[in-house]
Parts: sequence; structure tokens; C-alpha cells
Amino acid sequence: MGKDYKEAIAGLERLLSEKGDLKPVAASKVEQITAQLQTPDGQPAFDPVERIKTGYIHFKKEKFDKNPALYGELAKGQSPKFMVFACSDSRVCPSHVLDFQPGEAFVVRNVANMVPPYDKTRYAGVGAAIEYAVLHLKVEYIVVIGHSACGGIKGLLSFPDEGPTSTDFIEDWVKIALPAKNKVKSEHGSEPFPELCAYCEKEAVNVHLGNLLSYPFVRQGLVNKTLGLKGGYYDFVKGTFELWGLDFGLSPSFSV
Ligand SMILES: [Zn+2]
Repeated sequence: MGKDYKEAIAGLERLLSEKGDLKPVAASKVEQITAQLQTPDGQPAFDPVERIKTGYIHFKKEKFDKNPALYGELAKGQSPKFMVFACSDSRVCPSHVLDFQPGEAFVVRNVANMVPPYDKTRYAGVGAAIEYAVLHLKVEYIVVIGHSACGGIKGLLSFPDEGPTSTDFIEDWVKIALPAKNKVKSEHGSEPFPELCAYCEKEAVNVHLGNLLSYPFVRQGLVNKTLGLKGGYYDFVKGTFELWGLDFGLSPSFSV
């Protein structure tokens, strides 16, 4: 500890003895510094409030304030062309990956980007989102996007199909994609687990596209040709994206 440190402490003591009302401020600063010094790698401790504040200030300055026309329009309402189902996984935000701008996509994110079948009591949350998107926002496409290294799909392939569950919610939830697990196991059962997961991540998307057909307003939209369904797969290991359509059969749209 050099002279500078001693001087700083002496200066602080002097200031506090002269201005007693600064004591609470000083206490909180000291607490902050202590927390920083206590982190094992010497990096400042993570401050969630500061992170959110900095993030919002950046957005406001770089996006909101620079696009008054866009945000002015959005203040009046939204008419997104897409409804998107994506996984809650922190690496697969569809707005980030597909560069959706505010107002472009009505998004539902949940564990393993599941679309459960129509069920008013078990799956009211997802049902309300689809109903609102199709009947009120009149989205033109519903896109279900699966992804590589999905923890939910890994769970689906690892959990036993029968018997008591060890989780409160996860197992029952991911079993929505059980038909995909059964198909993949019967067709690729001998392949290594990671390959099996990758097949299942894509096949589950097809199960979800099928489940969308259990919603009467989705079926009506398809019959009227006001609504289209697409399946997608984002591989963040390879950096690729595939999109395919459901035209009463599966047809590839593109792969990059
Ligand atoms: Zn996932």
C-alpha cells in the first residue's frame, strides 16, 4: 500500500468528519468497492441494475431516438407479418438471428420452442398467443424455429417415457414432442446421441407444425390462404439456417 492509498483514506476521513451527511453515500461506495475486490478474477462484480440501465440507454440513443418514424408508427399499433415460436435458450433470440425489427414479429418463446396441441385448460397461454396473432393481428406466417444443442430436446431424449417424473414441469412439457422422439429413435436409433438430438430438434418442429393444425383458426387461415406455416432450424455451431414449408407435405424453402 503506497502513499496514494494512505492519502486517499485520510482524505475520505477528513471529508466524512466535516460532512456527516455523506456517510450513507460513502458506505454504499465502500460496499461496492468491497464487492469488486472480492470477485475471484478481480473483475467488477456483476451489477444487474447497471447492465439494464446501460443496455436501455444504448437502445434509446442508437435505435429509439434515431428512428422517430418507426417508433411513431409503432406507438399507434402493431401489424406484424410473422408469428414466431422460438426456444427460450439465451443464444437463439429470433430478433437477433433474423434481424427482426420492432413490429415485425409476434414472438412466443418457451422451452424447446414447443407448440402444444389445442387444449383450453393445459395450454391456455400458448393458445391465447396463437388466437391473438391469427385472429386479431392477422399475421401472415407462423414460423416455428428449432435450434442446435437444445437442452429441452436433449431432456426429451433422456427422460424415461413412462413412470414418475423428477421435475415439476419440464418433463411433461417437453413430451409435447414425444412423436418426434419416437420417429427419430425408430429411424436413427443406432446413431450416437448428439446426432439423435439433431434429428429430433428438426423433427420436433414438424410435430409443432402439425399441432398448429389442431387450432381451428389456423386451419381456417390455411384454407383461406391468408396464413402460411414454416419450419426453421438455426444451427449456432455451424452458423446455418434452414427454412421449410408445410404445403400439406414438407418442402424446402432455403438453406444457408
Ligand atoms: Zn432449446
